[in-house]
Amino acid sequence: MMPGWYLKKPIGEYVNIYAAEPKINIEGALTAFLCYLIDKNLIDGVIAAKKLKGLEGEIIVAKKREEIIEAAGSKWQVLPFTSKLKETIENEDLNKIAIVGLPCQINFLRQMKTFPLLEIDFSHRIKFLISLFCYGTFAQESIIKHIREKYNIDISSIEEVKITPKALQFIGEKILEIPFEEIANYLQIGCLLCPDYTGIASDISAGIFEDKTVFIARSEMADELIKKAKNAGYIEIMEIGSDALEKIEKEAIEKINRASKYIAKLL
Ligand code: SF4
Repeated sequence: MMPGWYLKKPIGEYVNIYAAEPKINIEGALTAFLCYLIDKNLIDGVIAAKKLKGLEGEIIVAKKREEIIEAAGSKWQVLPFTSKLKETIENEDLNKIAIVGLPCQINFLRQMKTFPLLEIDFSHRIKFLISLFCYGTFAQESIIKHIREKYNIDISSIEEVKITPKALQFIGEKILEIPFEEIANYLQIGCLLCPDYTGIASDISAGIFEDKTVFIARSEMADELIKKAKNAGYIEIMEIGSDALEKIEKEAIEKINRASKYIAKLL
């Protein structure tokens, strides 16, 4: 069973929660917000994972506005990358970084910032932790085999993969939408045990929910920063509304319940 406090605060502690949209000529409120941080010299780089073609992705370091825009091309990707982080930060000599990552990566980095391990510590260089919403990541080989065999799809024709709260969408010549129930078996085992949908250890969580970008500001500092980005004309922020908030909490509760179920089964 999960500790009771997970269900009491399924999306964690926060100061404010907004629906956001870009106000500069850029696709995506998160990308516009990151441009604000770079343009105002509040950070010297963003580390994130970028979608390549289909199911592939790569870690990127963006140090200029153009690089952020180029990297965001489709959308920030749900992809594990923590193993390459230290090397990347040191090689690029970054000292004020924003990291956009998965809730599990952000939890790890928050723990490292809170309890530094001297021999591997680079946490003082991390200024902002931004978590994406995450339902889970999939074992790629198995899911590719499933799609090929069941739907007779040429994997090389898939241009983009989107994760929605209820399904995986494979976008190529046509869109194939596969509900999670069908492919739940291909979720990584760690994901089945993971109760964190929004990234409760982040400074800011950012997720796409019903085609809107949602920002969750988890501290006064983070909230202030979002408001400054708005006042500087980079983003617009709006009240999210109680219906949308309830739906996000419902998704988070479903993930907590899934973790509870698999913890009982697997551990
Ligand atoms: S479901 Fe949890 S463990 Fe899996 S990728 Fe997402 S945050 Fe990480």
